[in-house]
Amino acid sequence: MNETLRERIKDKKRIVVKIGSSSLQHAETGDFDYIRIEKLIRELCDIRNQGKEVVLVTSGAVAAGKKAVHISEIKGSKVPLTTAEKQACAAIGQGKLMMVYEKFFSEYNQIIAQVLMTRNTVVNDLNRYNATNTFQELFKMGVIPIVNENDTVSTYEIEFGDNDTLSACVASIIGADLLILLSDIDGLYTDDPRTCKDAKFIEVVETLDDEHMNMGKESTGSNVGTGGMGTKLIAGQIATRTGCDMIICNSKDIGILHRIMDGENEGTLFLSHVDENFKLPEYVESLHRK
Ligand code: GLU
Repeated sequence: MNETLRERIKDKKRIVVKIGSSSLQHAETGDFDYIRIEKLIRELCDIRNQGKEVVLVTSGAVAAGKKAVHISEIKGSKVPLTTAEKQACAAIGQGKLMMVYEKFFSEYNQIIAQVLMTRNTVVNDLNRYNATNTFQELFKMGVIPIVNENDTVSTYEIEFGDNDTLSACVASIIGADLLILLSDIDGLYTDDPRTCKDAKFIEVVETLDDEHMNMGKESTGSNVGTGGMGTKLIAGQIATRTGCDMIICNSKDIGILHRIMDGENEGTLFLSHVDENFKLPEYVESLHRK
C-alpha cells in the first residue's frame, strides 16, 4: 500500500518545505552550512522547474543574528537571551538569511520573496485573506516565497514560537497538497529512538490520533531551533485536517527531497483526512491558550 501512496506524491502540485536552524548551520560553530543550503536551493529550484509551486519556510534568523554580534560569547553561552535580545538578533539575522538565499537562488535564476508572518496573520480574517492573496500572486509570478515568523515584532501574545506550526498554517491557507518537514530525525518513531532502543519507525500514519500525539517528545536533541516532535505532530494535525499530506524526514542528505518527489519511501508520511469541522484560526488560537 505504501508504494501506491508514495507514487501519488509525484502528482503533488503545491509543496511547502520547512527547514530548521539546526539544518542550516554547522553545530560546532553556528555558521551557515553553505553546502547544505546550496543543495537545498538546487532541489527546490528543480521541483519548481517541474512546474510545481514551492514555498520554503525557514528558521535561522535568530541564530544568524546571534552569531553576527557574538552575543553568546559576550553573555556566556549558558545565559539565556532576553526577548528583546532575541528580537534584535532576529532583526539582524533575517537580512543575512535572505542575503544567502538571494545569492544561491539567483544562481538558478529563481526569483524569491520574503514573507514574514505572525500568529495574527492566521487568526485574523482580514490578515489571513491578505496573506493568501499575496501568496497567490507570487505563485502566478513564478516566485518562491521564503517564509519565516516575524520574530522582531512577535512577542508571546502573537507568536507561533515554532516554524513547524507556522509551515502547516502556510500549507493550509494556500491549499498546498504536500508539506515536507526537514528534521534532524528520520521521521516518527513509537518512542524516542535516542533513548529507547525498542522504538519502531512508522512509515505511514493513516489517521493522526491521540496515540501518535503521545509519541511526540518535547525535544529532538538539537540545541538550536525550537521544534521538537510535539510541534511536528501539531503541524500534522493542521496539515492533514485541512487536506494536505505531510512528510517528516531527515535533512542529513538534502537529496531526500527529490527522492520523495520521485515517490521513494523516505520519512514518515501522514495522510490527509479533510475535517470539515476543523477551523484553522480557532485551532491556532486554542494552541496559544494551553
Ligand atoms: N523563527 C525563528 C528563527 O528564524 C526560529 C523558529 C524555529 O526554530 O522554529 O530564528
